[in-house]
Amino acid sequence: MDHDGTATVVGGGPNGLAAAVALAERGMAVTVFEAAGEVGGGARSGEALVPGLLHDHCSAFHPMAVGSAFLAGLDLERHGLAWAWPEIDCVHPLDGGDAGVLYRSIDATAAGLGRRDGRRWRALFGRPSERFDALSEDIMGPLVRVPRHPLALARFGVPTVAPGAALARVFATEPARALFAGVAAHAFRPLHHPLTSAIGVGIITAGHRYGWPVAVGGSGAITKALAALLVELGGKIETDAPITAGSQLPPADVTLFDLAPGAVARILADRLPARVARAYRRYRHGPAAFKVDFAVEDGVPWTNEHARRAGTVHVGGPLAEVAAGERAVHAGRLPERPFVLVGQQYLADPSRSAGRVHPLWTYAHVPHGYTGDATEAITAQIERFAPGFRDRIVASASRTPAEFEAYNANYVGGDIVTGAKDARQLVFGPRATLRPYHTGVPGMFICSAATPPGPGAHGMCGANAALAALRHLRRVR
Ligand SMILES: Cc1cc2nc3c(=O)[nH]c(=O)nc-3n(C[C@H](O)[C@H](O)[C@H](O)COP(=O)(O)OP(=O)(O)OC[C@H]3O[C@@H](n4cnc5c(N)ncnc54)[C@H](O)[C@@H]3O)c2cc1C
Repeated sequence: MDHDGTATVVGGGPNGLAAAVALAERGMAVTVFEAAGEVGGGARSGEALVPGLLHDHCSAFHPMAVGSAFLAGLDLERHGLAWAWPEIDCVHPLDGGDAGVLYRSIDATAAGLGRRDGRRWRALFGRPSERFDALSEDIMGPLVRVPRHPLALARFGVPTVAPGAALARVFATEPARALFAGVAAHAFRPLHHPLTSAIGVGIITAGHRYGWPVAVGGSGAITKALAALLVELGGKIETDAPITAGSQLPPADVTLFDLAPGAVARILADRLPARVARAYRRYRHGPAAFKVDFAVEDGVPWTNEHARRAGTVHVGGPLAEVAAGERAVHAGRLPERPFVLVGQQYLADPSRSAGRVHPLWTYAHVPHGYTGDATEAITAQIERFAPGFRDRIVASASRTPAEFEAYNANYVGGDIVTGAKDARQLVFGPRATLRPYHTGVPGMFICSAATPPGPGAHGMCGANAALAALRHLRRVR
């Protein structure tokens, strides 16, 4: 078959595969080189702990993927992708049994937060979630460019400038404050820093539009479907094929790296312009995740009844405690009560359980490169809001930050979002430029979650980088 040029993609995560599919759709001959034994990166799943129990190794909930304009246009359902929604998106329990409860429906969420906070929740997220599809044309690409929907973007964007803790204090009651703070904490940043509302506002807005679904059969179904489509389009995938030096790269019209900037700097070495090499080497990584997968008989006995029906439970207590925890982790200390994310994907996708035994996905925010064992801190946090949890644990397995990095070199020091989301890196990505996907070496691009719009299994960094690569090809031809 005649191809319209050749492309190499290094790294087969959601972004690498999205880039590969976008290029193959335009007739290019694409080869993906993946270091691990299977593609998927942060979207892989497998049986673990107990026969028949299916665990997500990394990503779990997908408001950004189901709402991704690129993924939605691929008809991945033809390759086995199906979404399933839990009854409740997210619950943030408090001591004493109360909780902030996030539903896909903004009306239901607002009703649960009381009159005053319900009104404020609606004022913040109502219009942006109604306009999310238009808005995503602006927020799911490079952030520094002329917006297509300036009014919608302004309405969405103004609150995101605020520190997460300050925006949480717009609400009067602790359930609403904690609910917002827990989602804002996905940024892995101290909540008193500017722009730490941005990721929380984005996830909540997308969630009110699309919910927080899981992929049936595990998050690996997203990347398996992308890989199947790529092969159907004539693309090739080589696994167990780490690329660590430029000399390993085959000649190609374009090469895209689904890698952390430091790895790109090592591979391209002195081919990179000095200013780009400096920026990539100095790229900052943030705090880490410490993950524990549990097998739990009869599920978690949460005191709050809503938490028993929620896909995600944010375990971190009131706003002040979440904020103090994020601050400590940023300063290199594990707090006694770290912020813990708990996933009960099996509630939406019962095929993941084995009879009465269910898979529970948890991770805590811990300092970058943390070398201790946070298993007990995570267990104690869950037990605090679900007395009797310990007695239901059938088996567990922990993954340290170092093990995360060994699993996927993009997670430097256990940083699972591929880079600190401080104001500069959040807005620009790896370097201050209007062309975040260009490495400065003609034909070479970076497409990982280090680039805009950032982390998530949405594939948009890859799709955007592929467009930049195609524009480059048109220019040189
Ligand atoms: C524990 C955890 C929980 C998460 N939860 C969520 C969630 O609920 N929802 C969500 O949307 N996102 C979540 N994420 C984040 C999400 O998984 C990532 O943002 C996303 O996977 C980034 O995609 P990517 O393609 O940029 O990179 P990655 O997924 O990191 O993929 C990079 C790929 O490149 C390969 N690679 C690395 N180095 C080399 C090399 N030298 N040569 C060849 N191949 C190489 C890796 O093996 C990997 O397959 C989570 C991540 C983790 C770890």
